[in-house]
Amino acid sequence: MILITGGAGYIGSHFALKMLETGEDIVIFDSLELGHSEIIEILKKYGNVKFIQGNLKNLEDIRGVFLMNKIDSVVHFAAYSQVAESVKNPQKYYYNNVYATLNLLNAMLEFGVNKIVFSSTSAIYGEPEYIPIDEKHSQNPINAYGNSKLMVERILDDYDKAYGLKSVRLRYFNVAGADLKSRIGEWHEPETHLIPNILKSSGEKTFKMFGDDYDTKDGTCVRDYINILDLVDAHVKALEYLNNGGDTNYFNLGTSEGNTVKEVFNSCEEVTGREIPIEICPRRAGDPAKLVADNKKAWQILGWKPEKSLKDSIQSASDWEIYRASNL
Ligand code: UDP
Repeated sequence: MILITGGAGYIGSHFALKMLETGEDIVIFDSLELGHSEIIEILKKYGNVKFIQGNLKNLEDIRGVFLMNKIDSVVHFAAYSQVAESVKNPQKYYYNNVYATLNLLNAMLEFGVNKIVFSSTSAIYGEPEYIPIDEKHSQNPINAYGNSKLMVERILDDYDKAYGLKSVRLRYFNVAGADLKSRIGEWHEPETHLIPNILKSSGEKTFKMFGDDYDTKDGTCVRDYINILDLVDAHVKALEYLNNGGDTNYFNLGTSEGNTVKEVFNSCEEVTGREIPIEICPRRAGDPAKLVADNKKAWQILGWKPEKSLKDSIQSASDWEIYRASNL
């Protein structure tokens, strides 16, 4: 059985759905602080999902999951992930992303579970020294979110050396898009991400573009938008890799292509066929000008390559926004 922490959240729920559709039995553990019970209800329609509401900050909550279920491996999505918030309130991030993960690892060790796929982030690299960013890039996070994820990566290295716990750390770039049938999708409250924010803008509610004076081709930030279904595939491959005896490893997950905020905005207008109200605002603190992945390592070792385009992601995100607005 696979334990999925944060399975009621954006990325975790898409991975959970994929597992259900391939006939896996899964246990989802989620506090529902940011995840949604509605998503769990939707997932239940597609297979054998056991849902346990609990908080990783309570060791006994997570011990109970291992006690009551035969867990073979863990895919650990549960985390806070807002950069700006992490700068204002680092305690929240270290407590939830590091301390809570230590509890999870503690339970894994106690119950002899030695495989984990961990959601890491491009934020562990900090201000890019070169583009595209490969896995050898130096690691100097510039916010508590990136630090919290890097700390867990280091803990995982030490736990492998000492206890033989094998991990694959997947360093996400900008994740975008939704399930192709709009059953689930991105649902953050409040929403801070680019594509849903553009899609939600209409009438008085203008899209706020943070900065048009960066040193990029059109003055707006360049990011690498990786489709959620491609990202999920990488998790499937990472799990297979560990199940086949693969050693601890880490991979960048991106497309290796960059798009500017303006390009994403234009693409959203094209896909939706409507004019979206826009307002140029000052830069958002902590935004590097360019972040683009070098994804060759994931191809060489996991055999993973993204297949979906930015437009595919915007189309599915838009379909999902329309569905959610009237159904959830
Ligand atoms: N962005 C923006 N308006 C928004 C949200 C994001 O202009 O309402 C910009 C942001 O400044 C960054 C890019 O879009 O340059 C991607 O931001 P997002 O929050 O989606 O992801 P991040 O790169 O911070 O992980």
